[in-house]
Amino acid sequence: MNRIVLATHNAGKVREISALLQPFGLEVISAGELGLPEPEETAPDFAGNAILKAEAACHASNLPALADDSGFCVDALDGDPGIYSARWAGPEKDFSVAMKKVQECLQARGLETSQAQFVCALAVARPGLKTATFLGQVHGHTVWPPRGGHGFGYDPMFCAHGMTQTYAEIMPEEKHAVSHRAIAFHKLLEDGILTEIGS
Ligand code: IMP
Repeated sequence: MNRIVLATHNAGKVREISALLQPFGLEVISAGELGLPEPEETAPDFAGNAILKAEAACHASNLPALADDSGFCVDALDGDPGIYSARWAGPEKDFSVAMKKVQECLQARGLETSQAQFVCALAVARPGLKTATFLGQVHGHTVWPPRGGHGFGYDPMFCAHGMTQTYAEIMPEEKHAVSHRAIAFHKLLEDGILTEIGS
């Protein structure tokens, strides 16, 4: 079976991306399993950071690598936490802390809620080939207090347009079908790159 490295150490992303990759006959190994170091995310945007992670994992393993860089962008906070979404959770990676910080920043501006987006950039790096990127975005608004026990990260405080439940209240399969990651993934599929790797 052909292998692809998932250039992430985030268990939530490994779960979601492995589910999305399942139909392609690809053996998925995470960068964590291979003991690869996590490169510093120094790019100014999601796509730049996804490229950085995919290329680092590809060079270290000599295998095709798929990276996701994603985050939660709140309009009233000028797009924050954005590319710093993971860092807002602190060294303990506690997203109840990160979500509280978002709400406190909104309240400091006299707001209870704001328009917000989940954004996902996927990058596929292959030895000797140019890295490809794909972008997905879902618009919605912030919710307070957080609701729901599914998903990960900021899911409990995000409600997508046209929905009444947060991303943490809907079933994972439902989220996988409509999420920012699903949209980026759909573009990746249309490109045919996974079929090439799998064949
Ligand atoms: P990074 O892409 O590893 O830098 O981290 C992105 C961070 O954005 C994650 O740790 C999550 O906190 C947040 N994030 C990205 N995608 C989602 C999602 O689907 N649901 C909830 N939070 C997300």
